[in-house]
Amino acid sequence: MTMERRSFLKKAGIGLAATAATAPAIAQTSGGPTVNWRLASSFPKSLDTIFGGAETIAKRVSAATGGKFTIKVFAGGEIVPPFSVHTAVQNATVECAHTAPYYFFGTDPTFAFSCAIPFGLNARQQNAWMYHGGGMELMREFYKDYNIIHFPAGNTGVQMGGWFRKEIKTVADLKGLKMRIGGTAGLPLQKLGVVPQQIPGGEIYPALEKGTIDAAEWVGPYDDEKLGFYKVAKFYHYPGWWEGGPELDLFVNQKAWDALPKEYQAILEAACYEANVDMLAKYDALNPAALKRLVANGVKLVPFSNEVMAACFKAVMETYDEIAEKNAKFKKVFDSWKVFRSEAIQWSQVAESRFDNFMIGAEKSLRVPAKAAPAKAAAAKAAPAKK
Ligand code: CA
Repeated sequence: MTMERRSFLKKAGIGLAATAATAPAIAQTSGGPTVNWRLASSFPKSLDTIFGGAETIAKRVSAATGGKFTIKVFAGGEIVPPFSVHTAVQNATVECAHTAPYYFFGTDPTFAFSCAIPFGLNARQQNAWMYHGGGMELMREFYKDYNIIHFPAGNTGVQMGGWFRKEIKTVADLKGLKMRIGGTAGLPLQKLGVVPQQIPGGEIYPALEKGTIDAAEWVGPYDDEKLGFYKVAKFYHYPGWWEGGPELDLFVNQKAWDALPKEYQAILEAACYEANVDMLAKYDALNPAALKRLVANGVKLVPFSNEVMAACFKAVMETYDEIAEKNAKFKKVFDSWKVFRSEAIQWSQVAESRFDNFMIGAEKSLRVPAKAAPAKAAAAKAAPAKK
C-alpha cells in the first residue's frame, strides 16, 4: 500500500505539471492507485436489504474511482465468522467489515451505541445523534482502542419483536423462554427469566424449526419472510423495543484507512452515507407488502402488552445503571447519549408525532380501492395491439 501510495503521489505530481503547461479545460487525470480491499459481512447473501448495504458501498466506490478502488464483499462465514468480524478488522485480516456492532456487546457493551440499545433511539434520532449530536466523536474515540474507524452504513428502522411459538400475554410467559435475540437486550431479559441466544441470521431457522429455541427475532417482515420463520412460529409480536433504529456500520481498519488517498477516503465516506439512506428506504418500501403476505399466510400479529413493555423497560434501565457502574467507557457515552435521547423525544412528540398520528387516523380515507390498480393493469394488457 505504501509503495502504491508513493507511486500515486509521484504520478499526481507529474500530472499537475503537465496540466499547468497545457491548461486544458478538463485536465487529464493520472488516476488513483489500484486498491483492492476485502469486506467481511455479518449477514447472509440471501438478504438483499441488510447484506445489500455492503454491495451498495462496493458498487459506488468502484464506479466513482473508475474501478481503481475495489471492495470484494464476502457473506457472513465465508471468510470470517459473522460474530468475529470486529476482530478481523482489528487484526487487519480484512480491511473492513459490514456489521451490527451490538453483536460485540460481550467484548464491551459500548459497541452497541453505534447500533442500538434497548429503548433507545429511532432511525432518525440515531442519525441525528451520530452525525450532529456528538455520537460520531464519542464512538470514534471508543473504536480507536480496536484500530477501527466506523461509518454509519445502513439502518433497518424499528424492528419487529419476533417470532414466538406461544403467544406472550404476561411477563410470566417470558420465564424459561429460549430466545434468539440480537445485542444487549439479552441482559435485561435474563432478569425476566428469558434465556437469550446469540445466533447468526443464517442459522436461526433450523434452531427454531428443531425447537432448540422457542422464539427468535431478526429484523422485520421483508427479511423475516425470506428466512421463513412464519412456517415454524405463528405469533409475530411487536415492536422490537430493543431496536428502535439499529444502525449498521462499516468498520474500517485504521491503518488501511490512513493509507487511502484523500479522494478515496471521501468516496468511501460518501458511499457509506448512501448505504445508510438507501437501506432504510428499501425496508420502508418493502415491509408493508411483506407484512400483508405474512398475515395472509396465517401469521398472528400481536403487540406486546403494556405490562410486558413496562417490565422490560424497568429491567433495561436497571441494566444500564449496572453496566455504567462497572464500565467507564460505557458511562461516558451513555451520559451524553441519554441527554440527547430525552431532547430528541421531546422534539419528536411535537410536530412529527402529531403529524404521524393524524395521518394514521386518516389513512382509511386515503385508501385506493383494491380493484382499481389490477383493473387498470388488466385493461392495458388486453389492449396493446391497438398501439
Ligand atoms: Ca433484530
